[in-house]
Parts: sequence; C-alpha cells; structure tokens
Amino acid sequence: MKKPYYIDYRQVPFEGHAHRYLCAECKVETTTINGQLSGHLATCAYRLALEKAGYESSGACQTPASLDADDVD
Ligand SMILES: [Zn+2]
Repeated sequence: MKKPYYIDYRQVPFEGHAHRYLCAECKVETTTINGQLSGHLATCAYRLALEKAGYESSGACQTPASLDADDVD
C-alpha cells in the first residue's frame, strides 16, 4: 500500500517561527517531511503506525536510468 502524500499526521507549531510546523511525534519540520512517510524519523509513532498498517515508507521510487543499455543490434 502506498499513498501519494502522507499529510494526516498531527502537527505542532515550530516555536518562535511563524508559519512553520513540526510533526507532533518526531518533531521533524513539515517542509522536511515533504509529505513522505520516509521524511519522519524511523522512531516516529505516526510512521511506525502506518508502516504497521502496511504502508510503504519509501519515498519517490527512483530507479537509475540504465546508461549502458545493451540493446544495439
Ligand atoms: Zn513524525
């Protein structure tokens, strides 16, 4: 299972910084999390709960382009 964005976590204001928010569980800034489950700390209760529920913590699935494709004939 995978969601495009993980934004349903509890957020708390970044003290002293207007318009900045942190995950209430792991205190990582929302702009760092960037909607990705992998943006949370591995110990984050929110991340652990979703991983337990079967969601993937991997971010964008980037596979390196094969530059040496051997398809010339
Ligand atoms: Zn978190």
